[in-house]
Amino acid sequence: MEKYINAFIEALTGTLSWTWDSILFKVPWYNNYFWGLIVISLVVWILEIIFPWRKNQSFIRKDFWLDGFYMFFNFFIFAIVISGFYKILGILFSEIGITSKTLAVIDITHWSMWLQLLVFFIVLDFVQWFTHVLLHKYDFLWRFHKVHHSVKEMGFAAHLRYHWMENIFYKPLKTFGVMILGGFEPEQGYIVHFIAITIGHLNHANIKITWGPLKYLLNNSVMHLYHHVKLLPDGRSKGINFGISLSIWDYIFKTNYIPEESGTIELGFHDEKNFPIGFLRQLLYGFRPNKKEN
Ligand SMILES: [Zn+2]
Ligand SMILES: [Zn+2]
Repeated sequence: MEKYINAFIEALTGTLSWTWDSILFKVPWYNNYFWGLIVISLVVWILEIIFPWRKNQSFIRKDFWLDGFYMFFNFFIFAIVISGFYKILGILFSEIGITSKTLAVIDITHWSMWLQLLVFFIVLDFVQWFTHVLLHKYDFLWRFHKVHHSVKEMGFAAHLRYHWMENIFYKPLKTFGVMILGGFEPEQGYIVHFIAITIGHLNHANIKITWGPLKYLLNNSVMHLYHHVKLLPDGRSKGINFGISLSIWDYIFKTNYIPEESGTIELGFHDEKNFPIGFLRQLLYGFRPNKKEN
């Protein structure tokens, strides 16, 4: 038992001091997600101010600060709190003979760096696309995912407005994806993570980006805005445009839908009337038993 408690405390304090060192610039710049997130956010925000898609939207839009808080809460506070639990899970799995190397389907360790990063990016993006589909399909998952869909005015910071339980829901398939690659995370994995954060910010930003013909490959703000549409088209009540960084999965699985590009559609969900507006009540909402809400 002592072994587990020690591992728990070690992981927790390790993540806490890593975060603190990041704030104080004491970690390599390319691993500094704290300042990295701030720099990407500032750049995208400035682009929103200079090139706004919805010109009448204030650059400090509705819920801007709430979303900013979600961003840091999910990225750092949650990561610190959960680290000890994940560590214990890792130990328990390895004790029954399951490690990140157990499932290895392809060995990419001898491939060139860019090919490794590309495969890593594509596999992780696909498992996240699939998890996102599930968040919309099952009611108990949707209750948590509603936090992300409660955004009424879209801007970059909405990217990381989501319930912390989503981290938990995404974790198994993301781990599975890494296991398929032999437990291998490329040394330069930070490049993939930073690209994914940037694409996610741009997908939510008040900037019209379509990527031209690359739109069939890359997710974009026009496509993702429709993911947030309040009134879903007939026969598509479980959602559309589930893409994270890539849009190609939606085109392959025919979940794509972009009827127009004005950017002026109403966002939300049909029973949003009773959805709480504050951070704490939004966190509790998903855990409450499902009441009829209309
Ligand atoms: Zn969604
Ligand atoms: Zn979104």
